[in-house]
Amino acid sequence: MKIAVVGTGYVGLVTGTCFAETGNTVHCVDIDERKVKKLQNGVITIYEPGLEALFERNIEQGRLKFTTNLAEGIKDAEIIFLALPTPPGEDGSADLKYVLNVAKDLGFLLEKYAVVVDKSTVPVGTAEKVHAKIAENAKVAFDVVSNPEFLREGVAVEDFMKPDRVVVGTSSERARKKMEQLYAPFVRQGNPIIFMDERSAEMTKYAANSFLAAKITFMNEIANLCDKVGANVDDIRRGIGSDSRIGKRFLFAGIGYGGSCFPKDVQALAKTSQDYAYDFRMLKAVMDVNADQKSKLLPKVKEYFGGDLAGKKIAVWGLSFKPYTDDIREAPALENIKALLAEGASVVAYDPEAMENVREVVGTSIAFAESPYEALEDADALMIFTEWPVFRTPDFEKMESLLNNKAIFDGRNLFEPELMEELGFVYHSIGRRAIT
Ligand code: NAD
Repeated sequence: MKIAVVGTGYVGLVTGTCFAETGNTVHCVDIDERKVKKLQNGVITIYEPGLEALFERNIEQGRLKFTTNLAEGIKDAEIIFLALPTPPGEDGSADLKYVLNVAKDLGFLLEKYAVVVDKSTVPVGTAEKVHAKIAENAKVAFDVVSNPEFLREGVAVEDFMKPDRVVVGTSSERARKKMEQLYAPFVRQGNPIIFMDERSAEMTKYAANSFLAAKITFMNEIANLCDKVGANVDDIRRGIGSDSRIGKRFLFAGIGYGGSCFPKDVQALAKTSQDYAYDFRMLKAVMDVNADQKSKLLPKVKEYFGGDLAGKKIAVWGLSFKPYTDDIREAPALENIKALLAEGASVVAYDPEAMENVREVVGTSIAFAESPYEALEDADALMIFTEWPVFRTPDFEKMESLLNNKAIFDGRNLFEPELMEELGFVYHSIGRRAIT
């Protein structure tokens, strides 16, 4: 099939590359000229495990192309995916201007029947809006389908190639057949393509992300209570996770969720609820708790230094909002770094993939290290914000020799408190015994 993907970010690039991998011809469109130039030159623009090899192979075999020209990109396309940003607007609702602007252009450009697919996470009713926008100027028949994306950054290729399920919202038989044909190679093992109406598909995505955010938040609340009652959240996690009704995943307490999806999607669903005069109390609690969670460690660092961080040098391990990605959107590390600087501390950070992106945001206000250990040189304490595997089994002796104080504030519960005690570190984590 001939496919167009409009928006070549984390979702668009993975979507386009994976569809090319199953034999389709894919034309990816983006307005960011710098990005497109790189992609046209075969340079990948995001870090995503496994993507580069597929990207290179499909470019080489002529199935994957890039352009800044929408008309050129969608020419002859049978299916046009919109993988555009839907950032939060001022009132928390998803801002649809990117999606609707492209929809308007499509109205002028469509030359024959095409299925236009909302891959972006969009509020209930957007497929109707996109349809209306295209219809203002379209001279040919078309369908608009909602096909929310569930991939996780860091394992996006695997998730896309072998999805647990594909959700397709459409009331058109013609569009349904096209989508079924396109996705058939991805569900060969028997995972379902779940068809439903457009509104339900749009809602499914928000329900999924809000549920997962709530699951993490619930464990963070349990961790906070563990702190008070002297229980260990890791034991609780194992104790409840082995119940198949609860499941083992998404039960890790920590310094709050971040990323480009959970914060904005929970907020957008809360706004939808408000628009429909429904008081979704749980969502409000999820947002409140998560906002507080991000600053759980800082008071402990401050207390350790007698209430004053001025002049202290803090090493930071981990900047991305989770491991295996260079995405720093809403990353707890950033908020904490800002707070540290405001308190008069200096920061030296290390992250395996995300330093370049952070440098673009913070400029020279913090220093960057070439390795985890370099960050520790002459630092007064270490804070950890991302559970990159490389941080899990460090050389503690070397750490001790580099740090001015043996003090670790761990937002991801990487080490066992017993071990830290044995090694003589001051060690604070989330929902487990503090070693002081
Ligand atoms: P992104 O910001 O990485 O990518 C969006 C791309 O769209 C950018 O490259 C931008 O330059 C481009 N763009 C903006 N306006 C354009 C236009 N008029 N024409 C062409 N290109 C244009 O965003 P993302 O993370 O890929 O997310 C895209 C959508 O997918 C969002 O709605 C998001 O909520 C959803 N989503 C994201 C993830 C994820 O893990 N990142 C997962 C599932 C769903």
